[in-house]
Amino acid sequence: MKQVYLRVVLDTPLDTSFDYCWSAADDEGGLLPQAGQLVALPFGRQEVVGLILEVMAETDVPPAKLRDVLAVRHELPALSSQWLELCRFAAEYYQRPLGEVALPALPKNLKAIKTISLQRAIKKLAKLPVQDDVRPGPEPRLNPEQQAAVDAVVQARGFAPHLLFGVTGSGKTEVYLQSTARILAQLPDAQVLILVPEINLTPQLESHIRARFPGLMLSTLHSGMAEGERLLHWLAAHTGRARIVLGTRLAMLASLPNLKLLIIDEEHDPSYKQQEGLRYSARDLAVWRAHQLAIPVLLGSATPSLESWQRAQTRRYNLLELRERAVQNAVLPIIKIINLEKEKPSEGLTQRLINAINLRLEKGEQSLLFLNRRGYAPVLACDACGWISDCSRCTAHLVLHKGDHRLRCHHCGLEQRIPRACPTCGNIDLQPLGRGTQRLEESLAAFFPAARVFRIDADSTRLKGSAAAAFERVHAGEVDILIGTQMVAKGHDFKNLTLVAALNPDAALFSQDYRASERLFAQLMQVAGRAGRAAQAEGGNASEVLVQTRYPDHPLYHALMAHNYPDFAKDLLAERQQAHMPPFMYQALLRAEARELETAIAFLKQAAVCTEHQGIMINDPIPMTMTRVANVDRAQLLVESVSRPALQAFVKAWIADLRSMKSRVRWSVEIDPVDI
Ligand code: ADP
Ligand code: ZN
Ligand code: ZN
Repeated sequence: MKQVYLRVVLDTPLDTSFDYCWSAADDEGGLLPQAGQLVALPFGRQEVVGLILEVMAETDVPPAKLRDVLAVRHELPALSSQWLELCRFAAEYYQRPLGEVALPALPKNLKAIKTISLQRAIKKLAKLPVQDDVRPGPEPRLNPEQQAAVDAVVQARGFAPHLLFGVTGSGKTEVYLQSTARILAQLPDAQVLILVPEINLTPQLESHIRARFPGLMLSTLHSGMAEGERLLHWLAAHTGRARIVLGTRLAMLASLPNLKLLIIDEEHDPSYKQQEGLRYSARDLAVWRAHQLAIPVLLGSATPSLESWQRAQTRRYNLLELRERAVQNAVLPIIKIINLEKEKPSEGLTQRLINAINLRLEKGEQSLLFLNRRGYAPVLACDACGWISDCSRCTAHLVLHKGDHRLRCHHCGLEQRIPRACPTCGNIDLQPLGRGTQRLEESLAAFFPAARVFRIDADSTRLKGSAAAAFERVHAGEVDILIGTQMVAKGHDFKNLTLVAALNPDAALFSQDYRASERLFAQLMQVAGRAGRAAQAEGGNASEVLVQTRYPDHPLYHALMAHNYPDFAKDLLAERQQAHMPPFMYQALLRAEARELETAIAFLKQAAVCTEHQGIMINDPIPMTMTRVANVDRAQLLVESVSRPALQAFVKAWIADLRSMKSRVRWSVEIDPVDI
């Protein structure tokens, strides 16, 4: 009887692998197990699914301790060694157990103990007609800059990272599509992975891809999918049937046996960074994966991350530029600053903005008002005694939501009815302070009674499919004035939009987060980029972007008016270099959470002294900016180094020490943190 030992990883926080025994009799098919296959196993008193790392003739585990596997999932083709390598790298780099990286990367239904859904999905996939016609539908003729970009991507051999820096509306999507078409035509069985920040916010891209490649199977992978659907799409990618995979950051860990090109749209977008568990950057993993597979990777943006921009400046990435809008006679909007110190707004709107909106209404064009704050008002206050609506569980205010008469914490979810009178002094005249999108909607309806005002934010699009439907209304011309949070800034090609206004973006200028201005600039450029995307009418005016601010002389707004990302980035990079900050410095962040802030700080203080740290700078522990969330106090300790390997080695040893420290705090380590 044939017998081997299997080394497997499980989805546990234990940073270890486990050995099991497999004998031919266990498996009816008589097939030998192999690395990359899933197995059902006994673990304690449970049955779990594990991933085989290695098949061995011997093991050090004493026979009495060895348990038998229950079943090997032969129906699923094994995951490749390259995929395992990717997980291993991510685990190593982000300092997590391999099992906690590899198993969560697989669809839930694949890991169910019962294999019914897997079998059903495999059958369903087998029944779908094989689509293998890589010929694209009609393609627009590329302009010379687009052509040069596509040529560079498809002609490169081996690992080739490209940064596609193209102004909004310059036709980056077309570069993605035609690069994809050429790679698919060149290399038999090739697969292309396209990542976007959020699929639901960019439904147009999916339909563009489908229309362009009618003879190919497209698989989509994102967190909003039902488990059954997710499994089917994942399998389509894993078996090579899907030639194009479109997904959000989680698709970066998909199994793609014939991956030949990686495309990351809006590469600067914060959503590529996972903010819990394995805190990975899908963009950084994309570059690693391209390197591993010796293939091209294309990072696209109108406002690249400073990390990528810096690499392009130092020639580690190949810089591809698109300087102009792709549509004939479409020009970048004119960006104007409105000084709120001189022009007093009423209900948040200056007279100049009101006039500009009126002009659009007369011409039957659309306006977009950008206000990155949902709810009616960020806080409710009592003038008489100074009471304000604080969340009892967080360092935050309860936000007023007028429509459903609620005060709501956007951090912990706490909800209350709006009090009839001040809880402290009984005053019945409570005042909303500040302005959110709901309040703006109310004011606009009053200012422009004949206009169709429409709001898109997380509150108005809670139901599944409602965001796509909302954007459809805008595209269909059923909206005159659109109000939106950053949700509306991304990727949309609104053809009839000629006015964009940012109501009051100043808060981010003075944020403690050193990345806030980089983000604000990207956000404003992006939202501004929604205007004027269609050809300008004969003799018509260029479209406009109005920014209302108290700081009209701020360099950020000057760079914005000049549409000058490169100069803005140059200044920021100089500042960062001088201040020894990323990308000139590598960072890791230790976070601690406890009931009492002192406990968390004490833990961090102890953590700060416990290890050898040559070449590592250990900062003082500090409370997080938002210290308390849901009755938990949070503090952090930043460690830095100019050397990435030194930091990696330090953190590895450090985590081992932290594990042995007796403490009741919950802690986690994040590599390359972005929110500090
Ligand atoms: P970006 O992603 O760079 O903001 P898009 O890819 O959305 O820009 O392109 C903007 C518009 O330009 C779209 O309407 C697209 O169809 C059009 N477009 C792109 N390339 C060309 C081209 N070569 N000729 C004509 N129109 C083009
Ligand atoms: Zn009061
Ligand atoms: Zn709260």
